[in-house]
Amino acid sequence: HQAKSNRLGSYVYNETLGATYLYEAKLRSDISEAIKQEQIFLLYQPKVDTQTGKIIGVEALARWEHPIEGIISPIHFIPLIEKSVHIHKFTRYVIEKAIMQAKQWQLQDIDMVIAVNISPYNLLDINFVQDIQTILTRHNLSSSSLEIELTETAMMSNISSTKLSLIELQKIGVSIAIDDFGTGLSSLSYISQLNADVIKIDRSFVMDMNTNKHNFAIVEAIIHLSNRLNWTVVAEGVESQEQLNTLKSLGCPYAQGYYFNRPLPADKISTLMADNIAYPV
Ligand code: C2E
Ligand code: MG
Ligand code: MG
Ligand code: MG
Repeated sequence: HQAKSNRLGSYVYNETLGATYLYEAKLRSDISEAIKQEQIFLLYQPKVDTQTGKIIGVEALARWEHPIEGIISPIHFIPLIEKSVHIHKFTRYVIEKAIMQAKQWQLQDIDMVIAVNISPYNLLDINFVQDIQTILTRHNLSSSSLEIELTETAMMSNISSTKLSLIELQKIGVSIAIDDFGTGLSSLSYISQLNADVIKIDRSFVMDMNTNKHNFAIVEAIIHLSNRLNWTVVAEGVESQEQLNTLKSLGCPYAQGYYFNRPLPADKISTLMADNIAYPV
């Protein structure tokens, strides 16, 4: 699959615009089939408590196993789906798969919050919240086990209707995480009005915070603000012990990143949880 996804990467970025366009159009038309044929699957990346090193939840991350192209990254196919009518079907599919997996873990005595990424367009679908409720009920999973991640940009796109959908989600007991925090265009006043439950500090700040004073200050400020406003704060993209130490010293309660785990298949998560492995903290 490696060779195939490399080929895809060079195709998308190096060929002429026309070829790229045709290629994208083809992938877009393959999406519907991909969902039907179950070519879309989920990996799960743990969220870790920085004090205990224990896993407290997971984020579902989509992959597309294309019959010809091999495994395609969401960075490539999500923007294509977002331009099509399939985005609603796609997100419902991902949410249902994630909820079914969470239920399966529960039956193995593994209780975790499962986070799913959504697209801004999903919030414009008037049936979205009801559909989530229906899926939760169908699989007998408590709404408190589900978290929805979306970026600031997503929330800016259509402020009032977006806000209504988010409030509705919180009303049914689903929590809301702001993804890639600090990279969007929203104001602090807008963010505070939204009353999100979780703030995820974008990886770009965490990456070089130990050598870049500006990014260190930004990470510090987001952690302090979150702690003051009672937002649960998660640092994204933690890759080293040094970064983890810095985050702990700043009072960051949760973290995610390759230092702990890459996104993993569900059975690997079960194994990790069964052994109750805590990470060196
Ligand atoms: P995201 O939600 O911000 O997810 C984090 C991304 O960073 C994931 O990439 C993850 O594998 C990667 N990552 C995690 N830890 C580290 C680290 O320590 N270092 C580095 N370099 N990377 C790390 P992935 O899985 O390729 O997903 C990319 C983006 O695609 C996600 O960013 C999310 O915006 C989007 N996405 C993924 N799955 C879905 C989905 O089901 N629906 C929607 N709408 N978007 C999705
Ligand atoms: Mg995310
Ligand atoms: Mg993110
Ligand atoms: Mg992102």
